[in-house]
Amino acid sequence: MVKYQGKGVYGAIAVGKISVFKRQDIQVERIRIEDTDAEIARLESAKEKAIAQLQEIYEKALKEVGEANAQIFEIHMMMVEDDDYNEAIVEMINVQNVNAEYAVAVTADNFATMFSSMDDSYMQARAADVRDISNRIIACMSVCENINSASNEKVIICADDLAPSETVSLDKDKVLAFVTAHGSSNSHTAILARNMNIPAIIGIGEQFLTQIKDGDTAVADGFTGEFIIDPDSETLSAANLKLEAEAEKKELLEKLKGKENITFDGTKINIYANIGSVDNIGAVLLNDAGGIGLFRSEFLYLESNDYPTEELQVQIYKRVLESMGSKKVIIRTLDIGADKQADYFNLDKEENPALGLRAIRLCLSRPEIFKTQLRALYRASAFGKLGIMFPMITSEWELKEILALCEEVKRELEAEKIVYSDSIELGIMIETPAAAIISDKLAPMVDFFSVGTNDLTQYTLACDRQNPRLERFCDTHHEAVLRLIEISAENAHKHGKWIGICGELAADTTLTETFLRMGIDELSVSPSFVLKVRDTVRKTDLSK
Ligand code: PEP
Ligand code: MG
Repeated sequence: MVKYQGKGVYGAIAVGKISVFKRQDIQVERIRIEDTDAEIARLESAKEKAIAQLQEIYEKALKEVGEANAQIFEIHMMMVEDDDYNEAIVEMINVQNVNAEYAVAVTADNFATMFSSMDDSYMQARAADVRDISNRIIACMSVCENINSASNEKVIICADDLAPSETVSLDKDKVLAFVTAHGSSNSHTAILARNMNIPAIIGIGEQFLTQIKDGDTAVADGFTGEFIIDPDSETLSAANLKLEAEAEKKELLEKLKGKENITFDGTKINIYANIGSVDNIGAVLLNDAGGIGLFRSEFLYLESNDYPTEELQVQIYKRVLESMGSKKVIIRTLDIGADKQADYFNLDKEENPALGLRAIRLCLSRPEIFKTQLRALYRASAFGKLGIMFPMITSEWELKEILALCEEVKRELEAEKIVYSDSIELGIMIETPAAAIISDKLAPMVDFFSVGTNDLTQYTLACDRQNPRLERFCDTHHEAVLRLIEISAENAHKHGKWIGICGELAADTTLTETFLRMGIDELSVSPSFVLKVRDTVRKTDLSK
């Protein structure tokens, strides 16, 4: 038995036989040619074939993983036709009298190096795409076969890395799991694997490929990132137990998927999901959430060593919005400070950080950081159905300043001729008693409220949420907390606005009926709780 540790990018488990992914090995030689026009004609015809293949893959992906995820192949088609890329190839053929395969391979290397050296991680990931399309064009100039040599049995595919087109070209019904030596969890391949609901582990390291062969038995644990070759009987039975537990969960999931969140007597509610990263979108879709009710954008800042640029943020928010298609995505602006610290913010040490310069207070004190995020959000809004919400509000003046900054951002973008959606919903988190108490004043200024019960409990009961010794005193069901939620709901509705709950309490099914009776319109919970809450809603009868 040999154990390898990688990064699980999709939480599921697989036990089965290994199939080592064999890529068609394309050897490109430099050959001197005389008739450059004929060579360029060969290139053009290979590009046409490559586009036809990509169109086919795009249509397959569209059916299997949805439009947002299939889009990468549309991008590949555009890359094949990209002017800069094509001019570089043609120039090389004309100037150096080389064969088209060689010109494509060298151009791919140059472009991939350029992309890899960019600061923006989204652009870095494009290096793999340019290599992928170039290999396809080269293959089309030789044998023009699809790159797919997966075995006929259902197997665990092991590879050094998989290009998005390779991932989606594999017959999903024959793949138990993906395990790769390299890869990043931000790559389209990882996103596709997640959305295909296939356990996936990346970054195992190169040496594993030298120690496996087709037909070896292995366990791929996408929850822990463990990949175990030739497992002993104990490991196998533990894996089988996990498989059984997974199957039970799936059964529930299948039963409730596609069903409405409707009570026995006909009251409907939205059940959305909370996420902290683009990586969680697969779980949101898998669990059939109606949208994203809370995207904790601060994780983007916490994972960085420096302030994420506007450009990087646009790419990330755009990816979340596109992945969710027509479903709503509510992105919460930066909620840093207190327990969420990033060194590069150089925040002063505070005696009571939970009561300190955190969340919106920090954003209003450092408007340059806040405006960068707002600009990124407005720019990304053109790609989906966006809601923006602001954390830790206590006063009307804060909201006035925020709304003024939003207007400023809109004017700037208009002057720069950058499009943004005109139907972005703006909301606030109700997570301080102050906000709940003056919710009648705040409601007319926004489109929605979302109750952050984690902080609302902390601030209402004066209990540090980080302190485990306060558990007994930190009663989330405390009447004071519930009354504040009820007051906020009444005030939201009085002004024709909707109200959701996105704190942990939203997933507490012992309170689902209470929330429904308050008229809460949306519950946003961890993806894995969506179906449990749906189940409870469907069993609730408000007419009694
Ligand atoms: C909350 O306070 O309930 C909330 C959702 O925000 P966070 O847990 O991120 O502070
Ligand atoms: Mg909070």
